[in-house]
Amino acid sequence: MPKQDPMDRSSGYLKKNLETIPQKKRLEYLNQKLRGIIQYAYKHSIAFKNKMDSAGLKPKDIQTIKDLEKIPITKKAGLVELQKKNPPFGGFEGVPMNELRRIFISPGPIFEPGEMEYVELGWAQGMYAGGFRPGDIAINTFSYHMVPFALHMVDNSLHRIGCVSIPTGVGNTEQQIHILKHLKATGFCGTPSFLLNIAEKAEEMGLDLKKDLNLKVGFVAAEMLPESLRSKLEEKFGMIIRQTYGTADIGCLGYECMKKNGMHIPDDKIVEIVDPETGKQLGSGKTGEIVATTFNKIYPLVRFGTGDLSIVTEAPCHCGRTSPRLLKILGRVDQVTKVRGLFVHPGQVDELASRYPQIAKVQVVVARKEQKDEMTFRIELKEEVLQTEKLKEEIENSIRDVMKLRGDVQFTPKGTITEGAKKIEDQRTWE
Ligand SMILES: [Zn+2]
Repeated sequence: MPKQDPMDRSSGYLKKNLETIPQKKRLEYLNQKLRGIIQYAYKHSIAFKNKMDSAGLKPKDIQTIKDLEKIPITKKAGLVELQKKNPPFGGFEGVPMNELRRIFISPGPIFEPGEMEYVELGWAQGMYAGGFRPGDIAINTFSYHMVPFALHMVDNSLHRIGCVSIPTGVGNTEQQIHILKHLKATGFCGTPSFLLNIAEKAEEMGLDLKKDLNLKVGFVAAEMLPESLRSKLEEKFGMIIRQTYGTADIGCLGYECMKKNGMHIPDDKIVEIVDPETGKQLGSGKTGEIVATTFNKIYPLVRFGTGDLSIVTEAPCHCGRTSPRLLKILGRVDQVTKVRGLFVHPGQVDELASRYPQIAKVQVVVARKEQKDEMTFRIELKEEVLQTEKLKEEIENSIRDVMKLRGDVQFTPKGTITEGAKKIEDQRTWE
């Protein structure tokens, strides 16, 4: 029998005052923090001052989250260019070099300043909401090299909660399993696919995942977590797995609680969902780009465009936290296409496919016919279906439901949609 877990992992908060603050008060709190960081960044970050000046703005023009719309968005891709012109941080840093502890390098390359004392709250809030408690011993299997995630963000956040970290880093599955076993580690930090590797390898080694290992909680990030994989792993290990979302530049932007109904936005960030073309805020319920602002004085990014798509909800969560939630990461902005004036994105294609277990592969082809956009869903089925007409009609109804647009279904033979084919293939030409 696996040992009973004596800890209450499902209730409580890391920062109760902040996490359960009434929505109106939260807005006041965030607006006040926003004014503070705008003043600070204008004075200390040359890149931010330039951005404000070029838009004809002064710090006093930014009083509320709504006012953020006036500030141009800094795109991640743009950061690379700006850093080349003004190395190493493009002028986005908020302190002189000698006040830093580390410099991190993310693919791009993008350089990030690392502060003396790690102050970010988000990841720690996420770990706590996901069931991590003081006294947990956790393997940290994210990469410790170059990038800030494992060493800076995850390690410090475990420490903040009162957990002990084992800096195992990436790979060496068999060795990680020995470590889990001998140290009776209760926590896992890493990607869902690596946890799956551990499960498969441990079973191969003849271990009983529940009896021989002692995992109770998993903090996963950096990859999509399909529900089927989550429940499989939770069941195999007898553990709780919760996911988080963020970027190396700006840190945590969302974390799941026990209720698993989206990712709460941490209290040290402002997240806007914007129209990727105009940069205007879309509010809750609409799909748009995640644009974030942090209160971090070392690296005060304001209106940082992540390039990721999501929808935000402000509906109350039964966990008691009052922060809005990102419902799901729906793909990348550069994969979005506009059809008859509406955005179509890969997340919608996935949603449609998830409604029909018969579907093996689907690709949307957008074409132009007689000056009109046409959307065709090329679908490969897992097995032949007798009444394709009926299924075609059902799927076409679902398309209208998911996309708010009409689309035609075309069943194609297996193997027609090649591996690595774009989910949305835009064949329109504009003259
Ligand atoms: Zn919640």
